[in-house]
Amino acid sequence: MTAEYAIPAAPRPTVAVAGLTSRFPVRRIFCVGRNYAEHSREMGFGDVRAPPFFFTKPADAVIASGSEVPFPPRTANLHHEIELVVALGAGGRNVSVEAAPGLVFGYAVGNDLTRRDVQAAMKEQGKPWDTAKGFDHSAPISPIVPVSSVGHPARGRIWLEVNGEPRQMGNIADMIWNVPEIIAELSTWFELAAGDLIFTGTPAGVGKLKAGDRVQGGVDGIGVLTHTMAAR
Ligand code: MN
Repeated sequence: MTAEYAIPAAPRPTVAVAGLTSRFPVRRIFCVGRNYAEHSREMGFGDVRAPPFFFTKPADAVIASGSEVPFPPRTANLHHEIELVVALGAGGRNVSVEAAPGLVFGYAVGNDLTRRDVQAAMKEQGKPWDTAKGFDHSAPISPIVPVSSVGHPARGRIWLEVNGEPRQMGNIADMIWNVPEIIAELSTWFELAAGDLIFTGTPAGVGKLKAGDRVQGGVDGIGVLTHTMAAR
């Protein structure tokens, strides 16, 4: 018997693919900050079209739609952020806007869970966002819908409800940076690869989640993400 690793290797995180029994293996999770003007304003920033900025979550932050999401410790203000997610089937660096759609395997709906109180403190202190954004189970995500069945959606409602009450509402046509532009810009910072997920930013209406909340959100034409928040 040949031991490949010195310790047990962690399993590769995966996401379901709509209509297939095979799954999408996650390599990295990239996220775009402030990509809808209304949300940028509610966070206290203007609506200047500054270049998109990026942060990451660990690949094993994904958690399937339908799950009870463990409530993260060390926050008194957990926020939901409903987002269109891009799943890459190929990669590259310095990808052109024209070539970018060709890298996309499919699209999903994700919730960029955020410890907003921690994020605010870290911003104020000039410290990294990892504890605010990259915690365990911080990326609930719906099954990925392949481009072969859904194409490249450029518009459609993006919404989120908590316990049946509307919280977030927008349209993906209102993204400051569209999907090809995000991929092109991101690929100047990182070499992208098959298995990468890109959370593309959230519309206005972000707010607090508490233990026991039922969360439902979607993007028209892409799907619906549902999860609950576990007890603390
Ligand atoms: Mn976000």
